Parts: sequence; C-alpha cells; structure tokens
Amino acid sequence: TGAALVAALVLSSCAATAKQPASSDETVDALIAQMTLEEKIGQLTQFSDLGDTTGPAPNDDLQRRRLDLVTSGTVGSMLNVIGLENIRTIQDYAVNESRLGIPVLFAYDVVHGYKTIFPLPLAEAASWDLDMMEETARIAGAEAAADGLNWTFAPMIDISRDARWGRVMEGAGEDPYLGAKIAVARVRGFQGDDLSDPLTIAATAKHFAGYGFAEAGRDYNTVDVGTVTVHNIMLPPFRAAIEQAGAATVMNAFNVLNGVPATGDRALQRDLLKGKWGFEGFIVSDWGSGLEMINHGFAENERDAALKAIMAGSDMDMESYVYFNHLAELVEAGEVPIALVDDAVRRILKVKADLGLFEDPYRYIDEARAEATIMAPEHLDAARRMAERSVVLLKNDGGLLPLKQNDNIALIGALAADKDSPIGNWRAMGASDSAVSLVEGFEAAGLNFSYSEGAAVEIGDAGFPNEVIVNMDDRSGFDAAVAAARTADKVVIVLGEDGLQSGEGRSRAHLGFPGVQQELLEAVRAANENVILVVMSGRPLVLTWADENVPAIVQAWHLGSESGHALTNVLTGAYNPSGKLPMSFPRSVGQLPLYYNHLNTGRPDEIAEVFWSHYIDEKNTPLYAFGHGLSYTEFAYSGLSVTPTATGASVEVSVQNTGDVAGEEVVQLYIRDRTASVSRPVRELKGFEKIALEPGEAKSVSFTLGPDELGFYNGMGDFLVEPGTFDVFVGGSSNATLSAQFDLKAATAID
Ligand code: BGC
Repeated sequence: TGAALVAALVLSSCAATAKQPASSDETVDALIAQMTLEEKIGQLTQFSDLGDTTGPAPNDDLQRRRLDLVTSGTVGSMLNVIGLENIRTIQDYAVNESRLGIPVLFAYDVVHGYKTIFPLPLAEAASWDLDMMEETARIAGAEAAADGLNWTFAPMIDISRDARWGRVMEGAGEDPYLGAKIAVARVRGFQGDDLSDPLTIAATAKHFAGYGFAEAGRDYNTVDVGTVTVHNIMLPPFRAAIEQAGAATVMNAFNVLNGVPATGDRALQRDLLKGKWGFEGFIVSDWGSGLEMINHGFAENERDAALKAIMAGSDMDMESYVYFNHLAELVEAGEVPIALVDDAVRRILKVKADLGLFEDPYRYIDEARAEATIMAPEHLDAARRMAERSVVLLKNDGGLLPLKQNDNIALIGALAADKDSPIGNWRAMGASDSAVSLVEGFEAAGLNFSYSEGAAVEIGDAGFPNEVIVNMDDRSGFDAAVAAARTADKVVIVLGEDGLQSGEGRSRAHLGFPGVQQELLEAVRAANENVILVVMSGRPLVLTWADENVPAIVQAWHLGSESGHALTNVLTGAYNPSGKLPMSFPRSVGQLPLYYNHLNTGRPDEIAEVFWSHYIDEKNTPLYAFGHGLSYTEFAYSGLSVTPTATGASVEVSVQNTGDVAGEEVVQLYIRDRTASVSRPVRELKGFEKIALEPGEAKSVSFTLGPDELGFYNGMGDFLVEPGTFDVFVGGSSNATLSAQFDLKAATAID
C-alpha cells in the first residue's frame, strides 16, 4: 500500500546507514523521484470540502469522485473539511489507497479561536500584550490540531489604514512595527518551536501583498501604492513572520498591486520572498485568485493563468483548478520547466514532513485529545483574560466609570443581550449564540440593573457573499429604553455592529451606528446625562457625536466566548482597562485613509497660516489617536533621557502610577527622522512595553534604538541607515509630548 511505501522510503532512503530514519529532505527527494507529473500537480492543488464522508458512501457522486481523486494520488491538500471522522476517512484513502501514500494537508481558517473564541484579532491587537496573543494563537492551534487540522490560514498580517475595509477586524491595525511584533507572536503561537508537535499547526502569513490597501476600503479593489510605502509599511510584518517566526506558508492575494495581480507577481513572490528573503516554505494562492487574474486583464485564459501563477512562484492553487487542468499540458509543451514544479512540490512535501505527517499521518486525529482539549476550562479562562485586555477606555469624564455595586443601572441596546455577535465573523467552529452576553455578565456580577433593547441590530440572511441588512426603522423599543434611562443613576448603552458586519466582503461607506441606534443614543442621552457608551464593532466607527455628548465611551469590539464576563469586569473595575488603539479613529469618513505615521506636508498646520493642508469642514487630527487608551488610574511620565551610542541611542523614562488603583500602561516610544534621502513620517512607533504599577509605584523603562529602528527602506527596497537628527517621543499614545533629540553620527547600509 501507499503507507507501506512511504514508511519504506522513510527508512530506506538512508539504507546505507540503515540504523537512522531518513531526514525529511531525503524522504521528500525520494518521493519526488517516484512521482508522476499528475501526482506532482495534485500536490499543488487544494480542494474544498468533500462533503460528509461518514455517510453511506459511495452514494453521493461528488463525494465518490473526490475520494477517487484522493485514491489517484492527486489531492495534496484540502480546506474546510471538518470533523475527525471526515478527516480520518480522507486520510485513510490518501495513505492506504493511493500509490505513494502521501498524506493530505487539512487547512481551515482558524483565525481567533477554534471552538473557544477569542476577541477579534484587531481587538487582541489593542491589548499590545504579545505573550497573551501568542497564548490565544497557541490555544486556537491546539484545539484545531486536536480536531484533525494541521494548517491554519492565519494570521492575517495586512496593514490597513482604512476603517471602511471590513477585514481590518482580522489584522493588527495600521502600524508596521506593532504589526510585525504581533505577526511574530501569532505565528509562534500557532506553530510553537517544533511543527511536528501534534499540539501545533502550520501558520499562513497572509495576504501577500497589499490586500489591506484596497482603494477606498472596498474589498478586493485595486491597490496602487508607492514602493516606499510597500517596503516600509506593507512588507515588514511578512518579513518578520518569516525570518523571526518561521511561518511555514504564505498566502498571496486577490488584489492587483501596482498593476500586477499578487498571484502572478514574480518580483514579489519568486524574487523577493523566496529569493532575497530566503523563504523556504510554500505559497498558497487565495481562493480562486488564479482565475481572478483573467478578470484583472492579466491572464488571457485559464491556461495562461496557470502559466503566470507557477512562473511567479505561487506553489499551491486554492480552488481555481488552473494547475489541475492545465499545468501538465504546460510542462509537456515546454512552457513550464519541470524544475519549477518540482520546487513547488518539494516545498509542500517539506511542510508535510515538518508536521510529522510522514511518520504518522494520523497524529492530528485523536478523539481523546479532542475531548480533553476543545473548550477546556483554562481556554475559556484565557479567552476572558484576553478579552479584558482588548477593551479600550476611550473617554471617562467625571469618573463615571467604574460602575459601583449599588449603582442603579439602565442597560440598553440589542448588542447587550446578543450572544452571537461577540463570536465575530471568522468564528471557525465557535457555536452560534455561544458567547456570554453583557446582560449575563451583569447578572453574574450581581449588578443592580434593568435591561431594555431599545433598537434591534438585525441582519438579514448573511449568507456569503453577504446581504447584510440592518433593521432600519423600528423605533418601537425607544420609549421603554428612555423611561428606564430616566430613572437610572447611570445608563450603559451598547451600540455598534452586528458580528457579521465586518469581515471579508463587508466594506462600509458609512461608519456610524447601523440602523436607528444613533437616534436611540440621542434619545437616551436627552433623558439621562450619565451615559456610558459601549461600542461593539469590528472596526473603528465614527464616534464624533458621542465624543461631544457622552461622558464615557468604551471600545469593546467583538470579544469572543467570554465577552460578557470580561466586559463586566472592565466596567466595574475588577479589571482596570489597559488597551490602546491599534488604529486611528476618524472624526469623519471623509478623512480616510487616516494614520498617525503620515508624512509632513510642505504646509503643516503649525507653520502655514493660510492655505495649509486641511479640509474646510473638518480637522486633520483623528478623534482618538493611534495608541490612545485610558485607565482608571493616571500615569505620569518624567525624566526622559536619551543617550547617543555608536549605532543609535539608549532611551530611559520613568513612569509613575499617580492614582489610587493598580493599573497597566503601554509605554510607547516614537521617533522622527528629521531629514533623510526619503521623506520620513512625522512619528513612527519603535518600541513599547506594557508595565503594571501599584498605586504610587514608579518604574524606569528603557529602550534601545539601533540600526533596525533608525533605518528605513528606499523605493528600491534597500535598507538604509543615515546619519542625522532624530526626535524621540515617549508617552501613553502617539500624541506623546515628552520629547528629546539625538544625532546619529555614522551611516550604515544593511542588506
Ligand atoms: C480569504 C482567505 C481565506 C480563504 C479560505 C478567502 O476568501 O481571502 O483569507 O483564507 O478564503 O477560506
């Protein structure tokens, strides 16, 4: 059988020394030497779900046909196959019935949890807590790995500056430095140190590249971005995920970047990623992105799409079948060198070997482990801790928060009782309606409250692609909500987006509260001024009216399984909020794209009295800046010292908790390179540390600025470190005011 053959290869390719099993490279090479062209192309093809394989097979034709394909050795990988029995059946066919017995890779979008659901990735990014993010990725990976999967299409590490794009919920926000650190933490979490550990799975750094820069925030739209921004903003998280965390796979993208579809972009994939960066894993296309190159006007037909994708370095085709249908013909016609096909096969088989699949194709299929792992109590505990850390306190005038045990509270808003929205969009196996709602959180904490819905946040049939319809005009719940508000000490009103209103294909042109929620907020505010607004959303919304009229605002995103408990802990002060925004919050949609690390204009507001760069009807600044987030205590920064070193500077600052409760602060360091051969941003994050301080306690925090932090890429992708004057800013947000300067004397050129 095939299984026997692989086992024999594992042992025999080292037959001369016979005592040791072959290295994975030897196993892979020995297999490639035996593979037919069709078998090779099968490894380069990813098929979607076969349907339920546990039923009375082979009655279902599609299922039978697909299992026949597996038997013929032409299915290298599958996505969206769920359930141990389904996975076991397919693996059985691959291992025992196919000629070479090569095991199948099973992929799934395990994005923010598998069955235990964590906050949206953007929400987690607001924690700036890298250890915690690594832990949630590790748990998500362990649950998925226990359920038969061995590969996740995560993390998404696309930088985005545009809240209209629905997939900002899936990334780490607008900053490449924070984004790179988070990319590394998440890949490490999924993969661990050793891919063959059956508690870990292979990760995918996606989408390579530029997907987050879709023009006007409209998903799948054209990306046209200068090369300085490509190298300094878009690519650093990818480079870090590969070089520092060893991401096993990379996914290319649907979009055109500067005129070339990412899937057919040779400069990006073959030259930069595999060439200059030395990436040894494989590149998978995005779903059908091979075929999309025809609509992009880049490939003439399917055959041409296959040619362009393989030549560009896209190793595995997800769901467009252009390799499956045309690659053999292209190789036979001499248009595609077999060496390129072999290289792609080698990369894919190497990942299978690294996962330990050749030693034991069933290592991810283990009922007892699934039982013990999935939704384990400690996973829910981590979900709660992560959710607490993801919440951002945007505003808290007059100390309205934290809530007190004896406050008489009117809790208002459909999202307060919603057990589904906090599960979010990329919910993997997270069950519908399985989150703890805020109502349940308040009940568990024994708070003194009444609940009224006020306005529904309903969606229509959100089948993919999404027709998300919001209930636009039902005001029937307003009177009860307003009456409750009138007699309460404090109002907690929860407004925002349904959990399916952000995500893939969910771009929005309006960033207010959907439906009649804004009217509800205004009616409630007119009845009681002690309003605490809790915003649940998958992206920054425009909160300008609220900021002007409501004393307390909490950004709660979609927080996952433990949402209600975590949010209750934040609102009552059982957990003192410590989140900081990973994206700028705009005042108006018209400001987008909006980001803190912009360049100066020739006419900045501080010097130009007339005709400075501005809108005549809106400010330039965000409503809430990148890095902003309050606590129930206050932190004072002092004693900034910047000492030049041979290659940069060392920075020290003292941070003191001047309030009367313990709290955590994210100490942030920004630089500005005053003059360079390429205009540099007004501020760039180059260091951060999250510290915990007891009341009155002070800590000294130090940072090192060296070539990595002080250099930048020019438009050719060369990394340069140039001498000159740098400003340093340290504080609790990108508006930090404590500053100093230093001069870098020596120039260095790296790579
Ligand atoms: C998304 C990818 C995802 C893939 C498979 C695509 O539509 O863009 O991010 O991994 O589907 O579900």
